[in-house]
Amino acid sequence: MKEDSTLSPGIAIGRVYILDRTKPCILRHSIQDSHIEDEIQRFKEALSKSKAQLKEIREKAKKDIGSKHLYMLDAHIMMLKDATLSENTISIIREQKVNAEWALKESMEGFLKKFERISDEYISSRKKDIEQVIYRVLRNMIGHHEESLADLEEPVIIIAHDLTPSDTIQMKREKVLGFATDAGGKTSHTGIMASAFEIPAVVGLKNITERAKNGDSIIVDGIDGSVILSPDNETFQIFLKKQQRFKYYEKEMLKTRDLQAVTKDGQRVRLLSNIEYSDEVDLAIRYGAEGIGLYRTEYLYINKDSLPGEEEHFLDYKKVATRMKSGYSIIRTLDLGGDKFISETKSDGEGNPALGLRGIRLCLNRIDIFKTQLRGILRASHYGRLKLMYPMISGIDELKEANRVLQEVKDELKLKGIPFDHEIEVGAMIETPSASVIVDLLSDEADFFSIGTNDLIQYTLAIDRINEQVAYLYQPLHPSVLRILKGIISSAGKKGVPVSICGMMGGDPVHTLLLLGMGNIESISMDPHSIPKIKKFIRQILYKDAVRIADEVLSLRSIDEIKRYLSEEIPKIYPEDIEGHDVNRSAFLNRKEEVIAEQYV
Ligand code: PEP
Ligand code: MG
Repeated sequence: MKEDSTLSPGIAIGRVYILDRTKPCILRHSIQDSHIEDEIQRFKEALSKSKAQLKEIREKAKKDIGSKHLYMLDAHIMMLKDATLSENTISIIREQKVNAEWALKESMEGFLKKFERISDEYISSRKKDIEQVIYRVLRNMIGHHEESLADLEEPVIIIAHDLTPSDTIQMKREKVLGFATDAGGKTSHTGIMASAFEIPAVVGLKNITERAKNGDSIIVDGIDGSVILSPDNETFQIFLKKQQRFKYYEKEMLKTRDLQAVTKDGQRVRLLSNIEYSDEVDLAIRYGAEGIGLYRTEYLYINKDSLPGEEEHFLDYKKVATRMKSGYSIIRTLDLGGDKFISETKSDGEGNPALGLRGIRLCLNRIDIFKTQLRGILRASHYGRLKLMYPMISGIDELKEANRVLQEVKDELKLKGIPFDHEIEVGAMIETPSASVIVDLLSDEADFFSIGTNDLIQYTLAIDRINEQVAYLYQPLHPSVLRILKGIISSAGKKGVPVSICGMMGGDPVHTLLLLGMGNIESISMDPHSIPKIKKFIRQILYKDAVRIADEVLSLRSIDEIKRYLSEEIPKIYPEDIEGHDVNRSAFLNRKEEVIAEQYV
């Protein structure tokens, strides 16, 4: 696994533009009693100026890009309005008789201390927000002008330590060819915006700002997640070709957008999209998704000051339901815990979080949180085709209990006369080995199953999916994984319960072939960019070949044997894109949803 994180595929070639967002250097000065009120006034003015600047950016962005994504700026504006922040700063100025800059810095540090013990990605992006907002106020106090991306004249590649929401929101596709940052991750604001605007980007590079200089030529490879500084002519030519191929590939693939995914001998499977925030529905539709197979709703909970309320859930899912007109959307209930935490649930600090209070366990432990979300989903189900699905089910009692809570919520809504889809379908994710061997039992309690291969592989092979040390052992083609998958698909088939795939195996052609060959798969949900590639593949193969190959693979004894067999067989049934199906690459790389077009380069 790489340290950096690619967010938005594509290749950008251009010149470096360093955006200086380093923290202002603040010194401590003692002030006299007679200057205290002036100092407080100076602080208040900087605060108002900062608010006014952000509001202006917001208004402008609203005109340019509509109201989507503005919530990130709103969060920053809210922070500036936070009474504790200004009260603390003012009392530090009064009590310690220090300059306003120092007082604000102290106040910020006090704030950040609260998060010190927690080291997960979401909390660190919350910390980043606080810092970014306060640096703006500090810059205004010391009179530093903040350069704006709105002023860019030439198209450039932005290099920055990190980007603020106001930076990303002002980015213009014609002026920002790509960007690369030291900080950030897939779920950081920067990450989300890059993927929403489809700007090639690589984040989390740690020290790119130290290595790059203004005006350097640079290549940002958002496909492989790498950045090349001052490339020589040969490298430049290679990437130019890669860029052209990628563009061509995307264009060609989009041509098949409105075609169905059906094998040459008539086996049909629905291709759906995984999304992580509601605005991604539009992107999914553009790539030909026939529905949403997995809406990971965690984003509603993170980077927030408080838990989302029922109305926020309702409006968000209603947006999904109304925008995805051509098919259904599956809203997965909260899957926090494991590798994603929020402070309110206190599930952080567990010794073994992947095996701890995660997913449905957390929901059943915090029925208040669970019910709020269920009410939101049910109310939204009146406005479009929604299904709901529980993550991390490990036993029948858990599933029954979740359904019991759901029934309670339904009864409450009915009593109040609030409309919802009374027949809403309810599914269980099959992503624990335990669930996978009792699929027949779970069938009585679920309308559908969706296989979460990411966690299923993690728990089956006892490999922490985010631990780089054991990444080499994370093998979707391990015979145990394949047998378990076959078992799930067969058991569900016998019970007549439809099965879908929503883990990353679904976005890989070779893995898709095997899954299809294992039985009747109703749908496969994947990251939106993978849909055209999988569709093209499915349309060119025969279902009977998939069945034959899957059968043979299930009889093989080791990963090596399986890979060897596949590298011989796949070119026979799909000769056209032979190098696109390097089995070694597929097997190792499918863990990253971001690695999508590599095979075509
Ligand atoms: C999975 O585990 O395969 C899955 C789709 O869920 P997540 O990646 O959100 O855990
Ligand atoms: Mg999972």
